[in-house]
Amino acid sequence: MDDNIQYIKGVGPRKASLLTKLGVFTIGHLLEYYPRRHEDRSHLKTINNLIDGQLETFKGKIVKCFESKPRRGLHITKITVSDFTGMVQLVWFNQPHIKKTYKPGFDLLITGKVKKTYQMEVQNPEIEIITDVDKLEFGAIVPVYATNESISQRFLRNIIRHILNNYDAISEILPLTIIERFSLLDRKLALENIHFPQSMAMLKQARRRLVFEELYLLQCGLLYIKKQNRSNTVGLKHEADGRLVKQVKEQLPFTLTDDQQKVLSEITLDMEDVKPMQRLLQGDVGSGKTVIAALALVKTVENGYQGAMMVPTEILAEQHYSTLSNMLLPLGIKVRLLTGKLPRRAREQALEEIKCGLVDVVIGTHALIQDSVEFQYLGLVVTDEQHRFGVRQRAKLQEKGNTDVLVMTATPIPRTMALTVYGDLDVSTIKQLPPGRKLIKTYVRGSDRRQLVYEFIEKEVKNGRQAYVVCPLVEESEKINAQSAVELYDELLQTELENISCGLVHGKMKSADKELVMDGFYRGEIKVLVATTVIEVGVNVPNATVMIIENAERFGLAQLHQLRGRIGRGGHQSYCILLSDNKNPETQERLTIMTKTNDGFVLAEEDLKIRGPGQFFGTKQHGLPDLKIADIINDIDVFFEARQAAEETLATPEKFDNLRPALRVRFGQEFGMIFCS
Ligand code: ADP
Ligand code: MG
Repeated sequence: MDDNIQYIKGVGPRKASLLTKLGVFTIGHLLEYYPRRHEDRSHLKTINNLIDGQLETFKGKIVKCFESKPRRGLHITKITVSDFTGMVQLVWFNQPHIKKTYKPGFDLLITGKVKKTYQMEVQNPEIEIITDVDKLEFGAIVPVYATNESISQRFLRNIIRHILNNYDAISEILPLTIIERFSLLDRKLALENIHFPQSMAMLKQARRRLVFEELYLLQCGLLYIKKQNRSNTVGLKHEADGRLVKQVKEQLPFTLTDDQQKVLSEITLDMEDVKPMQRLLQGDVGSGKTVIAALALVKTVENGYQGAMMVPTEILAEQHYSTLSNMLLPLGIKVRLLTGKLPRRAREQALEEIKCGLVDVVIGTHALIQDSVEFQYLGLVVTDEQHRFGVRQRAKLQEKGNTDVLVMTATPIPRTMALTVYGDLDVSTIKQLPPGRKLIKTYVRGSDRRQLVYEFIEKEVKNGRQAYVVCPLVEESEKINAQSAVELYDELLQTELENISCGLVHGKMKSADKELVMDGFYRGEIKVLVATTVIEVGVNVPNATVMIIENAERFGLAQLHQLRGRIGRGGHQSYCILLSDNKNPETQERLTIMTKTNDGFVLAEEDLKIRGPGQFFGTKQHGLPDLKIADIINDIDVFFEARQAAEETLATPEKFDNLRPALRVRFGQEFGMIFCS
């Protein structure tokens, strides 16, 4: 199955290199190049029954072929076909090779959209020559693959069929007991039927089997990593809380909520165990995860180790740096900010200090996981807004030592998805928000109300509050009709907000300039911050009570929720106004959901329903492994079966060992090389 496809009959080096564009390198890849859909050609129509405007499949014999060149650059090929009930004209533009291949007398199977003018016509149809009786595909359900212009459907079908008929190496991967228990098709039969189904019922069975296989392997991999980490007894062990941790707890300006206390004790127990911690901390925006991370970091420092906190953006790093410095510096804990934009000299010095243990806590962006960063004795790694890191990056963190790992996310995700993305982690959840928070009031408004909306900002600012105005674009664009931050900022300064101190931040600004503006906003000197989504995560200004989102239709629910999480962080009533002129009912529905709930989990489920997992998670970005056939929303039943089966397999090491080769082939990328041994 690992053989290069080049050696399959009919492929050769040229076709093989074209196939690599589809991600197909080996025979195994080709078998797992599942059809995007199937066409039921088991009921073929006669020509007199074809319907205008419909996609139809029918049979016909070539009566004549001719070409014409009505003008330069246009070449038309026409083939007339007939059956015993009528005639149809097939037409292609600029495909001169067709006439060379297809000759009068050939029987064709034709699929395409029928157009009835003075005659019956099909433009650019898909055609196949019917030759060998075995190969007749009418009366069959035919696979349709995602492909490009250089690889035809027909070619794919032929080589896949050839492999299925001629390779005996398609062996079973799943344990027999599991196949029996869950009544699954065997692998060969499933592969045959996913490509060339005997019937719709068999197609369904084949799909179920292959979805099961994929999810089972994935879960086995994740559970294996989890088990490895647990059984690793050479991890470092933290002592019970000492003076320092207690002191920090006492100095907090608030008492921890019950949920915060609960997750903190889960984390504490993990850290005091010799096994390395691998924990996910889930909590909606504003639920108070930062203080939990801070306490865990203090604990590791108290034990003589270093702690690191890794975040996706520089703004967030700076934000956490200032929060943590305020808390930790007075206790003599040395905190360092390490981002990619640090000048070389400063960076080298920071790296040196980290290496010889002069720094206790490092906060930074991805630059942190770069190989150049060496710690003297790293005890704990916290990653915030984890949804952008995958299993692989987590594994990479672990290579830095037997450190404890705490992963935090404010993107609430449905349970199946959490298990798929974070199946290797233990999960702690903060459900309640700190007391005294008022629910954010959310409104959807058309731009005809903009004047009133900005008057409202003015009023809030007069009362001492601050506001955000979020735009989808940085600069004006010719292609996209949406509000740009730069343009709106200039406009507001001259009109609605001329007497108010405003600031502008966006991703194209120099970091130093951005910082200056953010500082002004934190200190309350800047009252209204016009921004792009750079403020999406982490920015914490409790005095900000208004958020206007321009062209709100351009954002997904999850993102709107993240943005809205920037307000409602203090004791004052907060307001979020979604501006949109988009009258599309789906858009209106989406925006209306925002006005009805503040609960991130509810919004996540809704978003998932509306947009589907691909859109919702932009898969790769969220560390979701690349799934070839399973759909974690619709295949939820199979998912739970597969999870259960995987748990059983992991309980017997020999059974897991048998799976290693399959795991390596299917998920080697995601899991790095951990399955090599
Ligand atoms: P997130 O979970 O989004 O990272 P933060 O940690 O930024 O949330 O907390 C949001 C705000 O709530 C911060 O200003 C923080 O100081 C405050 N906060 C956290 N825990 C509590 C609590 N138990 N009581 C009151 N305020 C709290
Ligand atoms: Mg946070």
